[in-house]
Amino acid sequence: MHWPAIQKSPASWKVPPNLLDYGDTVAAFSWDAIRAELQGLPQGRGLNIAHEAVDRHADGPLGERTAIQWLGADGNASAVSYRELKRLTNRFANVLHALGIAKADTVGVLAGRIPELYIAALGTLKHTSVFCPLFSAFGPEPIFQRLSRGDAKILVTSEALFRRKVDVLMDRLPALQNVLLVDADDHRSGRLLSLPRLMAEASEDFVIPPTSPEDIAVLHFTSGTTGMPKGALHVHGAALTHYMTGKFVMDFHADDVFWCTADPGWVTGTSYGIIAPLLHGITNIVDEVDFDAVRWCRILESEKVSVWYTAPTAIRRFMRMGIDPAQAYDLSRLRLVHSVGEPLNPEAVIWGVKALGLPIHDNWWQTETGGIMIANFPSMEIRPGSMGRPLPGIEAAIVERVGENEVRVIEAPDVQGDLALRPGWPSMFRSYLHDEARYQKCFVGGWYLTGDLARRDADGYFWFVGRADDIIKTSGHMVGPFEVESTLMAHPAVAEAGVIGKPDPLIGELVKAFVSLKPGFAPDDALRLELIGFARKRLGSAVAPKEIDFKPDLPKNKAGKIMRRLLKARELGLPEGDLSTLEESR
Ligand code: ATP
Ligand code: MG
Repeated sequence: MHWPAIQKSPASWKVPPNLLDYGDTVAAFSWDAIRAELQGLPQGRGLNIAHEAVDRHADGPLGERTAIQWLGADGNASAVSYRELKRLTNRFANVLHALGIAKADTVGVLAGRIPELYIAALGTLKHTSVFCPLFSAFGPEPIFQRLSRGDAKILVTSEALFRRKVDVLMDRLPALQNVLLVDADDHRSGRLLSLPRLMAEASEDFVIPPTSPEDIAVLHFTSGTTGMPKGALHVHGAALTHYMTGKFVMDFHADDVFWCTADPGWVTGTSYGIIAPLLHGITNIVDEVDFDAVRWCRILESEKVSVWYTAPTAIRRFMRMGIDPAQAYDLSRLRLVHSVGEPLNPEAVIWGVKALGLPIHDNWWQTETGGIMIANFPSMEIRPGSMGRPLPGIEAAIVERVGENEVRVIEAPDVQGDLALRPGWPSMFRSYLHDEARYQKCFVGGWYLTGDLARRDADGYFWFVGRADDIIKTSGHMVGPFEVESTLMAHPAVAEAGVIGKPDPLIGELVKAFVSLKPGFAPDDALRLELIGFARKRLGSAVAPKEIDFKPDLPKNKAGKIMRRLLKARELGLPEGDLSTLEESR
């Protein structure tokens, strides 16, 4: 199926994009020039993310600007200026120091999106210990796994989360020196301490120790979509990628108000929900509440959000509910909408034009890459269904494996293969935690293999095909689930689709779709046949699904991604594998 490109005319730009000409910007690009736009620690003591994100603004003309505009679940809101954020993160760094925490020790944070999470994250980076976010909806076992694998010395959490999830783990976590409770007025017995009290006793002056760009800054676990989550280690030098992508993809300008809806428990919520906007000295919106369509529309309007970064799962929920935000709300400040995390169906890009008054810009990256690698830039024509083009400074290619240790770059356009990146960009992960062998295996013949399959068209746009694990081999064809799902999504009844390969003695694998419907549509045989016919007409009988099952909801992980491996395991009656990130309600 083909969706027409969305052209952009300079007349429609509210501000001229930072990246005006793709070819010129790529040709002139150097990481040194990006580094020169950051400040570095005084006296050449290195590069520290928190210095770049907080202190250099706090000590300059942006000091009184709101760094974090926090919106609480109870209706309360608070604004933290860059200057205030510097004082608070200094205090937190001093708290770690007073507790004897050393450089490179891990500090876990298990909290909802409350101000303390952001203070702890940036304070930890200042202190040069390692920030390890834990999604607050994890149950005890995933929390245990991450804290023990990460050798966490400190955990920051709330009384309620501690009682419900961590208390039972304490005996199994001997290396965990202290738990800092964000809402306890006083220290408890044993290892439990009051964070407010420690913060009150700590000095608000702190000198960031020398920080090498290669010092480990963040330990991020992957989303567990394809298996057991892996711990990816990131360094302070990653700030260069965060800054550069903030400039060219998010297109940050001085007065922007930015809202990234991801939770810092996922890499997007840290790289773009904390670091990138603060590196640019703009105002970052943090909403404590999870997806709520009406609340989200109100936030876009009342906070005058100009750049919005969200995910296909949220966009599909708006689509399913039939809500067109721009009709009922004043979104005149909204300039750019971006999406990441899963393939963005063309239908969703087009929905943006109608419902938000703006097309949605898809971009691609993964926990391992630390920042955006391929994107639809604000100045570029959007080809719905495409992830866009590689960032300046990023070399991406479609390759195929030839033998154990070699790959061949596929130069011809429109050929499906492994999506690979040339190693060496600043936010590239430096290892998988306790699994160096697995890390090394990702690098073959001078390329980092991403585990995703894609193709590149003649103009250099990349098109996501599927995860290598999800590819369906049917009658000699390689079918990517994304193409089939996107086609089904184009039918008015379909809210969401997940496609798998089901073993079949005749054709290898049979394409099977699981579909959830929009309200008002009945999951009956007539609709099943109609959908099969609809897909066949557009995809041909070899690629179209042969079986369709209706489901009220598709299984997703807590990051909102459809878990095709679980659809498959359940279909085949196989073990379900690691479910630590599964969204419970599904
Ligand atoms: P795990 O590695 O544990 O299985 P995960 O791969 O979902 O989980 P993340 O690092 O959060 O963990 O997700 C990155 C992956 O998400 C990418 O490799 C890709 O498969 C998918 N993805 C992200 N953005 C896009 C996009 N714009 N289009 C298509 N796929 C995307
Ligand atoms: Mg992955």
